[in-house]
Amino acid sequence: MRSAWAQWVGDLATLRGLLPAASPDLSPSAVARWPARIFAVCPRCGAFEGTGPAADLSPCVRCAAAPPPFDAARSLFAYTGDVRAAIVATKYAGRPYPVDDVALRLHETLSGRWKDLIPDGVPPTVVPVPAHPWKYFRRGFNLPALIASRLSRRSGLPFAPLALSRTREQAPQARLPGILRHGNVEGAFRVPRHRKVPSTILLLDDVYTSGATAEACARALKCAGAASIVVVTVARTVS
Ligand SMILES: [Zn+2]
Repeated sequence: MRSAWAQWVGDLATLRGLLPAASPDLSPSAVARWPARIFAVCPRCGAFEGTGPAADLSPCVRCAAAPPPFDAARSLFAYTGDVRAAIVATKYAGRPYPVDDVALRLHETLSGRWKDLIPDGVPPTVVPVPAHPWKYFRRGFNLPALIASRLSRRSGLPFAPLALSRTREQAPQARLPGILRHGNVEGAFRVPRHRKVPSTILLLDDVYTSGATAEACARALKCAGAASIVVVTVARTVS
């Protein structure tokens, strides 16, 4: 296990490399103008595909070869510009994040363009991707849980912040190349014993990079009895 000191030094190095030179504009009107990705996506994993409208609804090459354990994933923004700067500044420098305004953007999209993600019937329970307890202790918050809580309040969807726990120390995903990310989080999440898992889940995270974290969470939730999992992230990395 990495020592707390090594972890702290590592985070500091990450911070130095990631923090934007200028603070992003996080006013409500600025967040309302953040450009949503409205172009074609893989219907399963939500991968951004091109810069035009959806040509067809076939899954991407990766999903066609090996479908992920979740039913669908969608990301509202590309992880660039002020969207990225706001997340980095909050996670690594403790700066305020526009939780309310981002939750509003997610809620509006879930009620509009992403309406089909949530079929009528059982409303999904919002479950945030948990932080490792040590990371939570150092930061004092878990950004996905903050956003999930506000989204639940706005949408009226149930909220289950403790449905998943993070069980082992890992290298931070942000510092690993994509090829190592799946192994890094495999088996890192579990449903606490005796906790009943909601049948229909909206799993919320801040950033979707390789999909490794979402897949590991979805596997744990499905093993514990979840029937349907939709992954929603604020942003997704673009190559
Ligand atoms: Zn896909």
